[in-house]
Amino acid sequence: MAVVKHYYGIFFIMTLKNRKVAIIGLDSAPPELVFDRWLDSLPNIKHLISNGIYGKLESTIPAITCPAWATMVTSVNPGKLGIYGFRNRRHYDYEGLSFADSNSVEEETIWNILSRHGKKSIIIGVPLTYPLKPVQNGLMVSCFLTPNKNCQFTYPDGLRHEVERVSDGYILDIKDFRNEEKEQVLHTIYEMTRKRFKLARHFLQKEDWDFFMMVEMGTDRIQHAFWEFFDQRHRSYSPGNKYENVIFDYYQYVDDEIGKTLELLDDDTIVLLVSDHGAKMMEGGICINEWLLNNGYLKLTHYPDKITQISKYLIDWDKTTVWGEGGYYGRLFFNVKGREPRGTIPLQQYEIMRNELKFKLEDLRDEHGKKINTKVFKPDEIYSECRNIPPDLLVYYGDLAWRSVGSVGHNTMWIDKNDTGQDSANHSQYGIFVMQSNNQYHAEVRNGLHIMDITPTVLHHMQVEIPWYMEGTVIQ
Ligand SMILES: [Zn+2]
Repeated sequence: MAVVKHYYGIFFIMTLKNRKVAIIGLDSAPPELVFDRWLDSLPNIKHLISNGIYGKLESTIPAITCPAWATMVTSVNPGKLGIYGFRNRRHYDYEGLSFADSNSVEEETIWNILSRHGKKSIIIGVPLTYPLKPVQNGLMVSCFLTPNKNCQFTYPDGLRHEVERVSDGYILDIKDFRNEEKEQVLHTIYEMTRKRFKLARHFLQKEDWDFFMMVEMGTDRIQHAFWEFFDQRHRSYSPGNKYENVIFDYYQYVDDEIGKTLELLDDDTIVLLVSDHGAKMMEGGICINEWLLNNGYLKLTHYPDKITQISKYLIDWDKTTVWGEGGYYGRLFFNVKGREPRGTIPLQQYEIMRNELKFKLEDLRDEHGKKINTKVFKPDEIYSECRNIPPDLLVYYGDLAWRSVGSVGHNTMWIDKNDTGQDSANHSQYGIFVMQSNNQYHAEVRNGLHIMDITPTVLHHMQVEIPWYMEGTVIQ
């Protein structure tokens, strides 16, 4: 591209080089481990940083894979996307939640914008790309939400044969990382990661490309499955256990794969290493529906004698004002007159009730009476717009140190284990950001970075105009 610049009456004609950009995403990689604790043992990431800028990358609220990656590749907040988590309310009824997928993302993704500008993309495993939508200019391997490989998981469809041959049987995700046998989980995580990086290198070498993006899920899976074995603060930790170094060893392995991949890139390629959120030790679970029962907001038809998932049949709707959902963060739904079929809260009481709940939940204590620093968010205050049906309140119990437990029958509001399987990590608000650019930088820290900044930053470096509606800013 030729650009004419005017300095003090002198015209220069500068030829700007068309830069390629490669993004390697590590789902859930936390700055506390990658930057603060293990960097000296991760030579390839350290090398990227030594020639780049880096910092903590603020995630979306909620700090959850869906919507975080979708926000990263569109530069649009979750409210505007209308995606408030993996599962979302479809109607103001009591039918439960439905899963988000690529059809939930209506905004243009970075690869579609680049396609319009004639730039070719290779996209591997970016969450919320299933079901596959056509990539006008490029190829795609879909994400961990793909049910199985009988579904279309490559674009174009015929690419599946090459993917299977090169990777020797591609692995989309670990099926049940919370409940499977630990050795098997560990083995599958390594296999999945090895195959994904092998495939990535194959495409990087074989294809003409301008933009490359891959997301590795293994970092998230291994943290959820093995956190308690390495974190000395965890109540189940036992010194010298056989899984003590599992997460550290895996990060070294991923660093090695990153190193082999970077070798294939020329010096002009801008490399980003990012995560969608961080991770932290899970203290336990807050049984939110038990709390709502005890505080008079929720009424059940009967209290179950065993642990039972909350459902529309269990709730006495005519006497219920608020109910909650489980997950890494909490969501509260209000039973509003004229909005829900058997609503009980008069509309004029709605805001008063939200403030009351916010006040009480921010004062939540653990079983020893210690305040846990819970954060409560009103969607209309944190998003510029709220499409689809947002929860009435979003809650970070203990600032995400506690997960939200939706089931009832616990006879307590605190549990020390997850109710959906063994899981000892929760998500945290900040992920990682590293950008290496042609020896332009030297390990410079950047502050105030947000996940919405990634797409504008990439478009800027690829000399593509940043659409007006994008909410992030260019990191440089
Ligand atoms: Zn994630």
